[in-house]
Amino acid sequence: DPVRMEKIVSLCKRKGFIFQSGELYGGLNGCWDLGPLGTELKRNVKEMWWRRHVQERDDVLGMDGSILTHQEVLKASGHVGGFSDPMSDCLLSKARLRADQIEPQSGTAYHFTGAKHEESGWSVERPYSVLLNQPNQDENKARKTAREYYSQFLSDKQISPKKLELLGETTSEEKDVTNYNPENGSLLTEPREFELMFKTYMGASAEDGDPSALAYLRPETAQSIFVQYKNVMDSNRVKLPFGIAQIGKSFRNEINPRNYIFRSREFEQMEIEYFCHPSDGLRLTDEWLENRLAWYEEVGIPREKLHILDIPDGERAHYSQKTYDIEYEFPFGIQELEGVAYRGDYDLGKHKEASGKPLEYFDQETKEKFIPHVVEPSAGCDRTVLALLCEAFDEEDLTKEGGKPDIRTVMHFSPKVAPVKAAVFPLLKKNDEQVRIAKEIQKELQQWMNVDYDDGGAVGRRYRRQDEIGTPFCITVDFETLGEGEGDDAADLKGTVTIRERDSMEQTRIAIDDVLAYLLKRIR
Ligand code: ATP
Repeated sequence: DPVRMEKIVSLCKRKGFIFQSGELYGGLNGCWDLGPLGTELKRNVKEMWWRRHVQERDDVLGMDGSILTHQEVLKASGHVGGFSDPMSDCLLSKARLRADQIEPQSGTAYHFTGAKHEESGWSVERPYSVLLNQPNQDENKARKTAREYYSQFLSDKQISPKKLELLGETTSEEKDVTNYNPENGSLLTEPREFELMFKTYMGASAEDGDPSALAYLRPETAQSIFVQYKNVMDSNRVKLPFGIAQIGKSFRNEINPRNYIFRSREFEQMEIEYFCHPSDGLRLTDEWLENRLAWYEEVGIPREKLHILDIPDGERAHYSQKTYDIEYEFPFGIQELEGVAYRGDYDLGKHKEASGKPLEYFDQETKEKFIPHVVEPSAGCDRTVLALLCEAFDEEDLTKEGGKPDIRTVMHFSPKVAPVKAAVFPLLKKNDEQVRIAKEIQKELQQWMNVDYDDGGAVGRRYRRQDEIGTPFCITVDFETLGEGEGDDAADLKGTVTIRERDSMEQTRIAIDDVLAYLLKRIR
């Protein structure tokens, strides 16, 4: 649904969730900057992941590895020379494309049999075809491209391309344009491997082209966990099974960054390497899959929008006995959010071999010595953020019969991840007492959560502004709060405020003293 996606992208820019990186200068392709709301949303995602998988568990420890990575680490892991995607060049558009992601497209092919040049008497009988695969392109465009092609021959002969006449009846036909070459029938070159890692050169000897100065920006957070596994284990006296968790930036020079922040060149991962006895690996892989599904549900992605791919034999990495992909129904298709892979002893085995260091685990009770096996739930933080944005976005038609059209744009974020948890309003901006109390409430809440204050315009308008950024609760200080209500219960209502809930739009009155507890219960 491209229209829905466009609306989400536009809201994200308008409200300050996501901006194109380097936009002032035309944008840096595949890189994104998060604005104030996007930053809060992402922080909350990371916080929820950390809380459930690290803070609340005794068997998972955190780490934060460096992004600049020793070349030997990535040689041992197989990334150097092995971490690449197949790339093809499109001869027509000159674009470079990831060969396994080219989607079949149909278009119109125009065929010419050759060209001649009256003045010089030059002519060539070389068939040439032009494919048009964009809307609003017509035969003129095809003729222009063909003219450029034949002009090439002329330019070698120093003849001006003016008055070049295209030969043959122009015929056109609808066809699949993914495999079409103007001269030999295919449009895309044979795929070749394209290295995805970003290289950099470190230290003063970088200037001299010293090969030992070569380092990489990490393509995943996992490798620093493997190479520090022994240090973490020894410094923390942990026993198997245990996990090491990390959230951090990774970098891949993706051939075609696309689908908004879904595939970018700089992104954040949330990974756990869970080390275990070989006999527990398969069971723990299923356990982690369930854990992760429950987590997605908790942050607001319903189970029915998630798809589990049990990767079949032959399609998994050769060392993996089991791999699941968790996919989400994005507006642009069902796509991967996370991989949960049973990696056996592959990674530690490779680092043991390459470094020559003992990476075995010794079990004190059974006296068994072995390389632990690893289960890896590897999630994309930005992809989760995008899934939450897509899931939350809604346009509700609240038009009353016979009334003006009324569409409410609302982001239905779970209160646990919503960037702003609550907004506090004085009913009247000019009422000093209402303003004082509202500011006091805001100050107290701010010690615990991100809170907005808004005194601009009618309360109804303020509610709508908060709906659009997904604030789950709005708190209004009004005349009742001051004990100045008009009803018989005015005295009872003194010291209370209204809380309006975003999704139901219902309001309840509660005592100011209970507001914090009410919110904390719902946002944690
Ligand atoms: P894909 O097939 O989509 O390129 P992958 O299978 O190579 O992804 P992994 O290497 O398993 O991805 O990385 C684990 C997770 O990191 C992915 O599930 C995804 O959420 C995230 N991720 C990987 N590449 C990117 C990217 N270019 N942009 C954003 N997130 C990414």
